[in-house]
Amino acid sequence: MPAVLIVEDEPRIAEPLMFALEREHFAVTHVTLGQQALDAVAGGAVDLVVLDVGLPDMNGFDVLKQLRQRSELPVLFLTARQDEVDRILGLELGGDDYVTKPFSPREVVARIRAILKRLAPKPDVDTDKATPWQVDDSGFRLFFRHTELSLTRSEYRILATMVQRPGQVFSRAQLLDICASDEDSFERSVDTHIKTLRAKLRPLNGDHLIVTRRGIGYLLDTP
Ligand code: CA
Repeated sequence: MPAVLIVEDEPRIAEPLMFALEREHFAVTHVTLGQQALDAVAGGAVDLVVLDVGLPDMNGFDVLKQLRQRSELPVLFLTARQDEVDRILGLELGGDDYVTKPFSPREVVARIRAILKRLAPKPDVDTDKATPWQVDDSGFRLFFRHTELSLTRSEYRILATMVQRPGQVFSRAQLLDICASDEDSFERSVDTHIKTLRAKLRPLNGDHLIVTRRGIGYLLDTP
């Protein structure tokens, strides 16, 4: 069930849209302020954002800019004015889209479906089951549920290794080898990295995926 966050301050626009999405079995959250939207996205469990350009506390472009600092979540803009459309078209939008007011809720639902379908992981034949992880090896970046994790070099190496072999138990000594940096000379420091990794995954509801095998080491569970 895809989760849609609606960011719109006008109830007469938000309500029919929420109704249409819920009828189509989307999980819908509604907020009216840009800051609330950023908080909701940081809390995880959002698959797509429907974002009004004219919000009471900040405009939708600034919300997008802040959102993009930590997330690749798709954003569908709602806009009433031609000059806003021009600005949206001028943005580097990636997978995003917009609809102009007035719109029919059904049209918006169709657009949302199209975006989510386009972004859905391609079904691949064998090993590549739907994973919440994306590793960008060349950029040393790691994404969980489309959100980039802010990791130290050692944390990145540990987690990227575990992501590549979910279910495999790694001993502290193995993980220490993987870190292979001067400041990490004790197995205890692996525990510290695991602890901070869990803390960074907690807002995204992913901390339980790192499992402790007492006396042995750690493994990454499949969700
Ligand atoms: Ca508005």
